[in-house]
Formats: sequence, C-alpha cells, structure tokens
Amino acid sequence: MSFSSGGWSRSPGGLAPIVSKALDARGGAWVSWDGGGRGNAPPRRIDGLNFDIYTFSMSRPQADAFYAGYSNRTLWPLFHDGVVPPVFNREWWKPYQDAAKAFTLAATIAGKRLPGRPTYWIQDYHLLLTPRLMREAGVDNPISFFLHTPFPAPSIYRRLPQREEILLGLGGADLVGFHTRGDAERFGGAWAEFGFGAAPRTVVVPASIDFDAFSAQAANPHTRRMAEILRGRLGNRILLFGVERLDYTKGIPERLAALEYLLDRRPDLRRRIVYVQVAPPSRERVPEYQQLRADVERAVGRLNGRFTSPGHDVPFRYIHRAVSQSQLMAYYVAADVALVTPLRDGMNLVAKEYVVSQAAVKGAGALVLSEFAGAADELTDAFLCNPYDVPAAATAIETAIESAEEDRRKRLSVMAVQIQNNDILQWSDQLLRTAERDCSRH
Ligand code: UDP
Repeated sequence: MSFSSGGWSRSPGGLAPIVSKALDARGGAWVSWDGGGRGNAPPRRIDGLNFDIYTFSMSRPQADAFYAGYSNRTLWPLFHDGVVPPVFNREWWKPYQDAAKAFTLAATIAGKRLPGRPTYWIQDYHLLLTPRLMREAGVDNPISFFLHTPFPAPSIYRRLPQREEILLGLGGADLVGFHTRGDAERFGGAWAEFGFGAAPRTVVVPASIDFDAFSAQAANPHTRRMAEILRGRLGNRILLFGVERLDYTKGIPERLAALEYLLDRRPDLRRRIVYVQVAPPSRERVPEYQQLRADVERAVGRLNGRFTSPGHDVPFRYIHRAVSQSQLMAYYVAADVALVTPLRDGMNLVAKEYVVSQAAVKGAGALVLSEFAGAADELTDAFLCNPYDVPAAATAIETAIESAEEDRRKRLSVMAVQIQNNDILQWSDQLLRTAERDCSRH
C-alpha cells in the first residue's frame, strides 16, 4: 500500500500485494505507517478490499531517522552482507524504538476491534522490535514475524551496536519466518551468541507470487500485442531485460560491467542485442542511493558511447521511472533474457514473475540469476552466476543467449512448476497457520 495526495492505493509490486492478497483471502486489518508526517490519521477503509486499514504518523525528523536512517542505512546494508558499509548513528536508535511503539499501539487497537483471537503478522526489518513490545503490551495472541531481507552472517551481525536488543525484540514472536535455510541458520547462530532464553521457532517459507494472476495477465491478448509492439520498436533485436528499484543490492553497475565485458569480447553482438534497464527511484533521501544513480547514469552513457554503431539504435536503454503493471508484463513476455543479478537479495520476486510470464505464453526466455538471491535456492534451473565475477557473469549471459531453445523451455517449465507448487497463498497460510498452531501462550 502507499499513500499519496489521492489517498491509499495498491503499490505495483513487492511485499504489499502479496500481503494484501493474503488479507483479502482471510479478512482482518492492515496496520501501517502512512509514509509521511501527517499527524494522527483516523483508521480508514479502502473500497474493494476485504480488510480495514489503520495508519499512524510520525514527524518528519522521526520518520527520517527511523526509515531513511536506522532502517535503510543501518539495517538494510548490514542485513545484505554489508554490500555497502552500514552507517551506525546513535541518534537513529530512539526513533526506531519509537516507531515500533507507535506501530504496537496501532496494532493492538486494530486487534481489539477484530472478532475472535486474531493472529498478528509482522513484516520485515523496520519492525524487528515489535513482537516483544506487543507482549509487553499484554498481547497473548499468536505472533508471526517474517523477514524479507537476508539474515547476515554472525561475523557481520556482530557489528550492530544494538545486536542484543534486536534479537530480544524478535524473541516475542511465536514464529520467525525466512526465505531460505541459510537465513534461518544464520539467525540461529546469532541467537546462540546474543539471544536470551529459548529462541523463537523458525520456519523457512520462501515468498512467492500469485501464479494464476501472473499467468493470466501474461497470456492476455493485450499483453501479447504490447509485447509485439515493444519488440518491433526495439528493432527486433535480442531483448535483454532488467527491472528493479534503483538499489545498490541489485548489482546494476556490476551487470553493466558484465555486459561491457561481453560486448568487448563479442563485437558481433553489439548490433544484435538491446538491454532495457527499468530502475524506478528508491529511497532518494539516502546518500548511497544518490551516488548509485549517478554511477548508473554515467555507465549507461559511457556504454552507449562505446557501443552504438553509426546509424543504429543505442544498445542500452535506461528508464528511471516505475513502469505500469501492464508495461512490465509486456517486457516480461517480450524479453529473450532476464538479468536478475543482485549482489544480495532476500528473495527476488522479479525472477519468479519473469519465469511464470514466459511459461504462460509458452516462451523460451532465459533467466540469468545471481546465486546470492534467495530465489536461487528454488530456481536451480536458471543460468546461475556470481555477479561479482564479471567475466563469469558475462559468460552466463552469453550462454543464456546462445543456449538451445529446447534447453531454455525445459528449464522454464521446471521452474514454473516449482513456483506454482509454492505460490503466494501457500506462503501466507503456512506462516499464519504454523504460528496459530504453535502459539505457546494459550
Ligand atoms: N515492480 C513494479 N514496477 C517497477 C519495478 C518493480 O511493479 O517499475 C515490482 C516487481 O514486479 C516486483 C517488485 O516490484 O513485484 C519487486 O520485488 P522484488 O522482490 O524483486 O524486489 P524488492 O524491490 O522487494 O527488493
């Protein structure tokens, strides 16, 4: 969900649609920061949804310290293995605690208004303290927490000045869910070092997408027509495609370096391929993201300068805006190769969306996937690569382009079945049912 001057609306991808899908199915309430500093907004309900929305506000300085600061400059880089150095600023800690308290208050109000004994489902690294605070507020309902980022290695987690407090906060949950076994194990390691008492139960349930909805949208004649138009406009070249928030964890500069390496070695490909990079703005108040934008824009300009042939279209296209869902679907259907090469990623839903879209139109698209994305644990039939190893990533892209159609189709269908069997409702059901069953505080 996101808030704009026009009111609440569904955001395009990522976490919000998958959580709201689960709530649509079960009913309940959604509790969220309103994303700004707007004073106390009353609870509101969005038309067409099967649940209530409760919001709380923060002042601008508090929001900056909680969101842009502790959440996105300390925890985000730290939990992504320190791909950029985390910033530790003592002044962000209290606003992070206060945000968790505000959330706890709104959540307990929402919970009391629901019938029966609702289960609380807390999402992600912004709210690591909330499970314990809810217990302290007297909540004895089942609490399930899900971490959408990776959990870092103990040697990295150890750097966090509030490493005990964060684990203590999580310890209030009945169940803590992760995308991969590695994340759950690293959490266990950190708990053994810094936790208190019995560790909460952990479960590995990779997040997923709405398989049926994506398949139907991809196969829709309108999407297919848009894909055809797109391919024509791009000169019917081999279409390589990448889409992600402009975030340093996504490995965009490293991917461009791999493409440069490939085009250096294979001049014959310079006029035959086009790479489209969609990278909507993200966390623009954070300096590391401003730097990344400058780096990517410089690299795209440099590569087009190097590889554009006179009289031919540029081989690199860069879109620094969010594209609509229907445009995104057209790219998924049109793309011969998707490049999903994060340096570190909790899951990566784009990889799954591409596979399902291609399978739905009986395509033969190839997925080049970083071994450091959570999705790599499930999508083992992708063209896997280490994005830090530029020549190896270039070879993975080259292999994907040149692999036999039959091979690509086989890989796609194996991966699509895996996604279909573990789709979004399974994910939410498992996380909520397990917490309800195992809640030790009956
Ligand atoms: N997305 C979108 N429009 C865009 C870019 C991305 O709708 O312009 C969606 C994409 O379809 C996916 C989500 O954003 O559902 C990104 O999720 P992912 O797990 O890949 O990465 P995150 O942004 O959560 O790190």
